[in-house]
Order: sequence, then C-alpha cells, then structure tokens
Amino acid sequence: MTIAPCYLLPQLPESLSGLADLALDLRWSWSHAADTLWAEIAPELWEQTRNPWLILQNISGQTLQDLAQNSAFIAKLQAFTALHQEQLTQSSWFAENHQQASFTQVAYFSMEFGLSEALPIYSGGLGILAGDCLKTASDLGIPMWGIGLLWQQGYFRQTLDENSRQQEFYPYNDPTQMPVTPVRDSEGEWLRLQLPFPGRKVILRAWQAQVGRVTLYLLDSNDPLNTPADRGITAELYGGGLETRLQQEICLGIGGWMLLRRLGIQPEICHLNEGHAAFAILARAYSHMQDHGSVFDCALNATRAGNIFTTHTPVAAGFDRFPAELMNRYVGGAPEAFGIDAENILALGRENPEDIHAPFNMAWLAIRGSIIVNGVSRLHGAVSRHLFQPLFPRWPEAEVPVTHVTNGVHMPSWDSAEADALWTDCCGKKRWLGNLQNLEAEFRKTPDQIIWELRSSGRQQVIHFARQRLQQQLAQAHAPQEEQERAALALDPNALTIGFARRFTAYKRPNLLLNNPERLRQLLTNPHYPVQILIAGKAHPRDEVGKGMIQEWNQFIQQHPELASHIVFIADYDMLVAEHLVQGVDLWINTPRRPWEASGTSGMKVLVNGGLNLSELDGWWAEAYCPETGWAIGDRAEHDDDPQWDAQEAEAVYQLLEQDIVPLFYQDRDASGCPQGWVQKIRESMSRLTPLFSSNRMLREYVSTLYEPAARLLAARSEKNRIEAICQWQKNIRQHWPLLRFGDLHIHTENNRYYFQVHVYLDDLDCEAIAVELFANDNDHSPIEIIPMHRSEALSGAINSYNYMVDIPADRPADDYTPRIIPYHVHCLVPTESAEILWYR
Ligand SMILES: *Cc1c(COP(=O)(O)O)cnc(C)c1O
Repeated sequence: MTIAPCYLLPQLPESLSGLADLALDLRWSWSHAADTLWAEIAPELWEQTRNPWLILQNISGQTLQDLAQNSAFIAKLQAFTALHQEQLTQSSWFAENHQQASFTQVAYFSMEFGLSEALPIYSGGLGILAGDCLKTASDLGIPMWGIGLLWQQGYFRQTLDENSRQQEFYPYNDPTQMPVTPVRDSEGEWLRLQLPFPGRKVILRAWQAQVGRVTLYLLDSNDPLNTPADRGITAELYGGGLETRLQQEICLGIGGWMLLRRLGIQPEICHLNEGHAAFAILARAYSHMQDHGSVFDCALNATRAGNIFTTHTPVAAGFDRFPAELMNRYVGGAPEAFGIDAENILALGRENPEDIHAPFNMAWLAIRGSIIVNGVSRLHGAVSRHLFQPLFPRWPEAEVPVTHVTNGVHMPSWDSAEADALWTDCCGKKRWLGNLQNLEAEFRKTPDQIIWELRSSGRQQVIHFARQRLQQQLAQAHAPQEEQERAALALDPNALTIGFARRFTAYKRPNLLLNNPERLRQLLTNPHYPVQILIAGKAHPRDEVGKGMIQEWNQFIQQHPELASHIVFIADYDMLVAEHLVQGVDLWINTPRRPWEASGTSGMKVLVNGGLNLSELDGWWAEAYCPETGWAIGDRAEHDDDPQWDAQEAEAVYQLLEQDIVPLFYQDRDASGCPQGWVQKIRESMSRLTPLFSSNRMLREYVSTLYEPAARLLAARSEKNRIEAICQWQKNIRQHWPLLRFGDLHIHTENNRYYFQVHVYLDDLDCEAIAVELFANDNDHSPIEIIPMHRSEALSGAINSYNYMVDIPADRPADDYTPRIIPYHVHCLVPTESAEILWYR
C-alpha cells in the first residue's frame, strides 16, 4: 500500500517509514497487537490518547532519530509491519465462500461513521453501526468502500456547569490531526470535485481513511475557494437548518457518487445507511443515462436492483422531509447536479406523486429507488412495514416490502483486553473472521471461576476510570477540595455495578429509575447488598426535555450526599466512555418506550464482556431476551407516553432489581466467593448471544440475503433489451390496470379440498404480465397464505379473459380466501417495482 504523502507528517527516517502505514490504518482501533510499539514511542501520550496518528504527529525529531538507531525497536517495527501486511492480504471468509459472488464492489453511504475517537465524525448509534460495518467488512474480506463526510466539528462535546446544566462545545476537527489523508488523482493532485449548486459550484475535497482492508472516502467543503457559507456545509453534523441538511445530503449522495466515478469504482451494490444518502440513487441513475443514452425511467429500473436501503427510523416524524419549495430551488436551480428532469425527481419523494405541494421525503425516494429495504431488528421491520404502507396502497401490511437484518456490534472493538484473552483461549484468534460455527459450544465450556475473574477485573477497571473522570469533573466545576478527594474513593469494586448510558431524550426514558427516588436510594444504599450506577449521556442541544433529565439525575445525587459513592454521572459520553462502561459493568439497563428503539446496540456491547441486560422488550432485546440470558420489562405492546404505564414499568424495574437481580448477584456464592446463579446467566448470555449479535453475523446476513440476490437481479438487467421490456411492462400495467376486472368466483368442496375457479378479464394486458393468487390473512388459528392460481382455458366469447383455478386442502373456512391480481415479471420484485393490486372484493 502506498500512502499519499501527507503534508504535516514529520519526515520519517527511512527505517521508520513503516510507522506511517501502521498509524494511518484504523485497524489499531480494534487490533491491539501493535499497542506496545506506540507505548514505547510516547508512553504518556499513548496513555492519554490511544491515538497512534497523533503520536506520530507530535513526536520530536530527536526521538525519531533515537528510534531509528534502536535496532530492537526497528526489529519490532518490522515484525509488526510484516504482520500488518499479512493481515491485509490473507485469505478471508468472503474470498473462500463467495468465489462466485454476483458482486465485486459495495459502496456503503452514511452521514456518520463512528470508528474511533481519533476520527470523531459520528453522533450516536447510526454512526457506530456504520463504523462497525466497515471494520467487519475488513475482517470478512468483503469488498466494501465507505462514503461519508468529513465533519469539521462532528458532534458536540459535553460538560456540566455548577447547576448540572449541559454545556456544549464544538472543538475543531483538524484534518491534519486525524488519521486521514488527501485522496490524490493519477497526477498526484489532491482530488477535488465540483458539485453544481444553484448559481455556483461547490468544491468538495476528498479524503480517505484506512480501515484495515477497507477504504473510507470522506468529502468536505471547507475549501478556501468556496464562499464562507459553502465552506460551512460540512461544518456540523446534524447542525444548521433544513437547507443546510439538504445541502449536506446532496454532498453525500451526489458528491459521493461523483467521487466513486472519478476513482473508477463501479459498485454493483450501493448500500444506503438511512435515507440521508438517498440522492445517490439519482446520481447513479444519471450516470447510467449518460453511459447508455437511456431515459430516466429505464436508468432507474436498471440501477435500482443494486440499491439497498437500511432504515433506522421507528416513527414517521423521523424521516428527513424537505418543503417542496426548498427542493424546487435545488433541483430546478442546479439541473446539472441531478441531470434529471426536475418533475421526475420531485415525484419520487412525494407520498402522492401528483401532489406538487407535498414535502420531499428522503425515505420515499430511498424506497422507490431501492430493490431491498430493511429495518434493523425483527420488530423494527414490522414497524417499518407499517410506516411505509402509504406507498403500497391496498397491499396487506405484512407484504409491504421491508425485511430486516438485526444489527450487531463489532466484538473486537468492544471487548476488553481480558475478554479478548479469554475468548482467544476458548475459541481461537480467528474467531470473528469466519462463520462463528461452534463459538457457542466452545465458549460454554468456560469454568465459572474464569468468568467471574473476568467480571471482577472488568468492574475494577471501570471503577478506576469512573473515579478519574469524576475527579476531573469536580475539579472543573470548582468543587471543594475534600469533595474532589472523596471522589478517589467513590464506588465499591465488589458491588453490583449498573451501567446506563445513552442519548438523553424523552423516548429513552433515562429518568425512569428516578420514578420513585426514595426507593432507588434505598436500593443503592442497602448496607448488605450495595448497588451502584454509572450514568452517561448527552442531550441534543435543542432537546430541553433531555437536558432537564440530565439535571434531574445530578440534582438527585447532590441532594443525597450518601449517594455520591453510589452514582457517578460521567460527562461527555462518547465511544471511549462507552468502551469503558460496556467492558466493566455487571448489568446494562435500557428503558426505551417501545417501539422507539429501532434496534439499540449498546446492550450488545456488554455481551462479549460478560455484562447482562435488563431492558424493555424493544428493538434487539425483543428477539434476544429469554429468561436464561437476562431480564426484561414490558408486555410486548405499545403504550405511547402514558405516565401510568411509565410508573408501572418503573415498578417492574424496581421489583426485578430488589427481588431477582440483587439477590442473584450476592447470594448463592460458592466457597471462593463466586455467585453461581449469576455466573450461569453470564455463561448463557455470552455463549448464546455474543455470536448472534455480532456484526459478523449481521454483515454475512447482508451479503447472503440482500447483496447477493440484489446483485443477481442487477446482472440480469444487463441483458440486451431487458430494461426496455421492464419499462414497457410497468407502463402496460399502469395503463391497463384500471380496466382489469374479476368475473364469477366458484368454490366447491370435495374430499376435504376446496376447488377455486375465478374468471379474470385482462383488458389488453398480456396474461404473462400478471399473476392471480388466493390470499388469506392470518388470524388466531392460521398464518398468512398466498397460493398461486393457474391459468386454464380462455373464456368463450370474451377477449383476453381466462379461468384461473386452484385446489387446496379445506383446512380453514373457504371465506378466508380472496382472489387477487398482482403484477408479475420474472426479473422484477413486486410490489417493490410495480405496486398495483386488484382484489376480488
Ligand atoms: C453504542 C453507542 C451508541 C448507541 O447506543 P444505543 O443507546 O443502544 O442506541 C451511542 N453512542 C455511543 C457513544 C455508543 O458507543
């Protein structure tokens, strides 16, 4: 690999040149093989930042000269460089299992990527998922490219003032201090794109970050040749108003696609992580028009088969919607950017394409431009089918074409060094690089004692971390000296330690535990069975309710001095804080309002480290929970924001803690002090759930159930005249559908079978362009049934009309079945690509 020269790197002596490659590959964020190298170069800086790139930037020329003379160090560096090369080139799961893959390149578009604190361009779960996805693609050898924006400020940093009010800070992300390098073109020039905006061009600079075998491309608009306003487009993640957001999404979708083209990358699969990136659909179709001289409809049909849309939103209000007028200004004002007739584009984002005043919904564009859409947990799939129902009128909700791939987390990024060692002992070094077979069985053999030692050392370390942070925070808030000193003794390394960290916003109910403050106080301060909580979380700068809840927790602590050693609020929740928490706590609590937690991933991060979960039956926990692996609240129903229900759920949490969780942790200890029931639960949770909720499982599922089938459909569309035929099919369906009708339906029963016959009048539509089916809804006794009917003789005396028949076992009332006509094309998905439907009644 040759790294483009970076202008701010100190001149490395020849023998140390390998350091740059190592420091620029974010693999160090999960693979700790080379840690000792960095610790040797700059022990203090390493301890503080864990950021090799920063170390390389700040190292003195003298130190470099000394290291260059240090033959032991050089030998070590060479060994690591060789190992690194080997990791980059070794065979992979993908190479071994997908030799005949129908795709060769995947572009993964995301507004944010959470890879490491060294590259702070994420705000929360969505970004962490994207980061974990790239890391896993590297592990598995999936040919993936990330496409994102290089935010100048990323998300805000948090401190608390004397009144426990959240303060927000936006430190500047200096690109030269981050592990990214400029993308150079073949002439060695820094690659810049010119993106047409209304009345001007916006220059986008291209950067790249290395994530093991995967490259992440990032665009930013902070070029001195841009106007000040345009330079700010990529300033602040989720900052600014609607227009800024629209500009950002144009940069991501259209700029991102332009960059791929410039680099000669031709992905079969474009994976859109949330609707933010949906403009890539238009850019991709436009490229197809240019390459093939086709019209937009055909280009969209040709390219749609390669687009995958992952939705993360559990409520309609969560979709990005731009007012029609604003969209008009950009689509009409910069036609060269989109290249497509404005009306065509605008219709794709409207719920009703004819309603010219309707706002432009990015999720609608994403659905109409993608072949497969997925939610991020089983429950969220169902919720999404409900949300997207308006685009598939008269189709049963269960058939709205949204599937799900439940999220997972990149275990090597979230495990502690001790957990890594333990898993390596049981399951080998390559355990996350293959198909996870046997992991469950292998891990289950781990002795109690070993599991309990992992827990105890994890707890001790997170307490050490919490004390340090608490001391810093108190010093910053000018707390009295003695209070600062007491912080060093806060928390008890042997007490049940609960973690609670997430965005502070109403639906996450971060103050549910405060529903009965006195009861919580008693629970925590029980002299025999003490309990402690580590809390962290930011509220969005404009979320006053969320900020109020941060204050509520901190005031609760301040009002009860005895709680100072039982609750610590750790400010500035970020990946580093998350890492410490998930590696150390015994129990992770999550209390969202169902169904708002589309998946949730923080609870998955404790699995590999032996933490247990107590959570609402929402998102991933609704499918992961069983009594052997953790605890749950909720009745699998939705209750909105009913305060009475909140109180009832708070009661359930208290009861579980008081009657089940605390006793299980403290009682039934064996001779060596190991709580047998608790450890048994850990063993079940670790062995069953860790493989299932790893991003390894997730990404392999993406490959086999989404990328592969999509790429096969895409390839089929490159056949000569195929696209024209598909376009014609869609047009015929639209034209003739209103004139299709059913005639008589006959059912007779014989030998416990129903014989269905129905007359179908097809106007001028080719009978091959449709299918006739029997449909029965699910009910208490029976599932959904869809049974194809067979075309039989033409009806005499009628044009293009047929008898359709089928016979089925008479297992449920004949009345349950309704004939229907739907579009059919062997190379298309229905209703995704043609959503007409005609019911017999
Ligand atoms: C994992 C993680 C999240 C996502 O957590 P959920 O609360 O489960 O959505 C958010 N922020 C950080 C810093 C994380 O590490």
